[in-house]
Amino acid sequence: MLNIVIFGAPGSGKGTQSARIVEKYGLNHISTGDVLRAEIKNGTELGKTAKGYIDNGQLIPDALMIDILASVFDSFKDSKGVIFDGFPRTIAQAEALKEMLKVRGQEVSIMLDLEVPEDELMTRLIKRGQESGRADDNEETIKKRLVVYHSQTAPLIDWYKNDGKYCHINGLGSMDGIFADICSAIDKL
Ligand code: ATP
Repeated sequence: MLNIVIFGAPGSGKGTQSARIVEKYGLNHISTGDVLRAEIKNGTELGKTAKGYIDNGQLIPDALMIDILASVFDSFKDSKGVIFDGFPRTIAQAEALKEMLKVRGQEVSIMLDLEVPEDELMTRLIKRGQESGRADDNEETIKKRLVVYHSQTAPLIDWYKNDGKYCHINGLGSMDGIFADICSAIDKL
């Protein structure tokens, strides 16, 4: 099983590169952002709760997120592996993921950290908001998301380094070039 964590700040290109990895390696894709947006669209109780946090640039509470993740993961049968996109976002989530995989006889194979400078993130997200109308891609909310990223999510870089799974990827440049770097890291596993 190939269990890949794709990591990076908002707008680092996790979703775009995940789609390519899924296609090439035949993995299942869990995008927690997509799961939450689908719940919001369907008007579920979970969606209503999630919307309040997302529109405010905050993270959904860990306990809720961890439950969602486990139930999506267990819905995959005979999987070649999974790409985790947008999860974990806190140390508590990383610890829960490790435990969840361990009890199923698995582990994270690699954590790919897509690094992109902050001014480029801002430019990309504002453009995405204009094109897709994503409610959380406006300047005020983006700034809050970046603060949350630095305080709650970036500490995972050292956590995965300590766990021996960390791999740095330069997230600036052509999409093909970035994907080539990702593939060479995966192919070494
Ligand atoms: P991308 O790199 O694809 O641009 P993104 O960070 O802009 O990613 P999503 O991953 O789609 O966006 O997440 C959108 C929002 O959903 C987050 O700002 C957060 O409120 C919520 N969310 C998603 N995943 C989690 C998680 N693991 N824990 C808590 N909240 C989450």
